[in-house]
Amino acid sequence: MEMKNTMNRNPQSDAPIIKPLDPEEFKRQGYMMVDFLADYIRNVSHYPVLSKVEPGYLKQRLPTSAPCGPEPIESILKDVQDHIIPGLTHWQSPNFYGYFPSSGSIAGFMGEMLSAGLNVVGFNWVSSPSATELESIVMDWLGQVLNLPKSFLFCGDHGGGVVLGTTCEAILCTLVAAREKKLSQVGKENIGKLVVYGSDQTHSALQKAAQIAGIHPANFRVIKTKRSNSFALSPDSLLSTILLDVERGLIPCFLCATVGTTAIATIDPIGPLCNVAKDYGIWVHVDAAYAGSACICPEFRHCIDGVEEVNSFSLNAHKWFLTNLTCCCLWVKDHIALTKSLTVNPQFLRNKASESKRVIDYKDWQIPLSRKFNALKLWLVLRSYGVENIRNFLRNHVQMAKTFEGLVRLDKRFEIVVPPKFSLVCFRIAPSAIIANGLSKGVEACYNGKLVNDEYMVNEVNRKLLDSVNSSGDAFMTHGEVEGAFMIRCAIGGTLTEEHHVIMAWKLVQEHANSLLGL
Ligand SMILES: *Cc1c(COP(=O)(O)O)cnc(C)c1O
Repeated sequence: MEMKNTMNRNPQSDAPIIKPLDPEEFKRQGYMMVDFLADYIRNVSHYPVLSKVEPGYLKQRLPTSAPCGPEPIESILKDVQDHIIPGLTHWQSPNFYGYFPSSGSIAGFMGEMLSAGLNVVGFNWVSSPSATELESIVMDWLGQVLNLPKSFLFCGDHGGGVVLGTTCEAILCTLVAAREKKLSQVGKENIGKLVVYGSDQTHSALQKAAQIAGIHPANFRVIKTKRSNSFALSPDSLLSTILLDVERGLIPCFLCATVGTTAIATIDPIGPLCNVAKDYGIWVHVDAAYAGSACICPEFRHCIDGVEEVNSFSLNAHKWFLTNLTCCCLWVKDHIALTKSLTVNPQFLRNKASESKRVIDYKDWQIPLSRKFNALKLWLVLRSYGVENIRNFLRNHVQMAKTFEGLVRLDKRFEIVVPPKFSLVCFRIAPSAIIANGLSKGVEACYNGKLVNDEYMVNEVNRKLLDSVNSSGDAFMTHGEVEGAFMIRCAIGGTLTEEHHVIMAWKLVQEHANSLLGL
């Protein structure tokens, strides 16, 4: 019998030509996918937060080669449920407190879906004018919400913002801009003399950027921070490091200051650091990947005081701003410095709009050529929730962190290692509780009877506590280290996290500590 749907046949084989964008099928599968995700979100708190699979687990469950023929979405989704979900660490779980959060939202998801569905590749203005123009508008919006000076906005002189994938890209792009600006003054042959500065709390993204940007490894400065200064980068230490470099004939080029460092959320003093940097023509970038979001609240805005002096500023909206991965917002004061270093003009991309110089071509603000329409997500987030609700969402996390901190302080076996900032609490079992308890089985097992010093023992006990909490699957936290002390980080910021989850997480830590300390 003749098929009703007279499908074209591929001349090379018998397989019919597929219709991968059939609207009716799109609807059917789309609704199914939304149902699947709604169920996932509904059930996510029941999964072990940290995946329990062993390395290589998936190879044993999936075929060794791609299917030749089509498979129905139903069986693919079943495999997702049976094989992929068990191998997830559930970042959307309300009991996820590791690293920094990745706060997804309906608006963030809808924006991602819109962007995926429209599937435009807005590398320059003409390739999708609304993609470029919306991005500029929404970056000005968010810049205003952050109360960034006009010099960072398109409505100012040479400033403006761009949505990149990640902070690593933001640091690399600004470092390359700084490098080219400096080399244009001192001569290209001096690339081996350029020096990059950060602190021992700066994210490894800076080191990676320096490696990629061709900064000589010997010219990468990791300035030591001190507890007495809350582990912030001290302007005096910066100055003395710079002076040594200048004396040796090196050329200071780039400083990455951080607002909300990764281990402990320390805040580097932007204004005073800029005061030092400006005398040496150093490009200052502020990495506010996590804590930048909180700066939309007036009570946290002081954390970026001095930002008017810096050259560039970035935050990850995909961390704590309800915008699904990826969405790194970068603002620069002098976008010509950025585009000078990143522009290429191949014939196939030439067009009247670009030549008129009346448009932004975002390809010149980033590493890749192609780019997703990520600004849609941010636009949907800002519109769907409104700034005041987002502020309260963040404040609620900060409040929950205060609750958690209070609970830690009530248990005298524990200590807060550094004063909590934003929604991050760093704690550990105090040395006194471990050493007083030195002979419990749990503690002994941590160092296997080896002759070890107290610091090692304290660290091992805390490491064991973290492993034990995480392997329960009931909560997930990660660790950090300051001055050789291993500490557990509880980073609150999950979209689904409520106070009762945080209280439960603390009880869980206590229970695991009880058995470790032999109580
Ligand atoms: C998360 C984080 C980064 C890295 O962000 P990516 O977007 O993954 O590159 C850099 N710096 C700080 C302070 C961070 O918290």
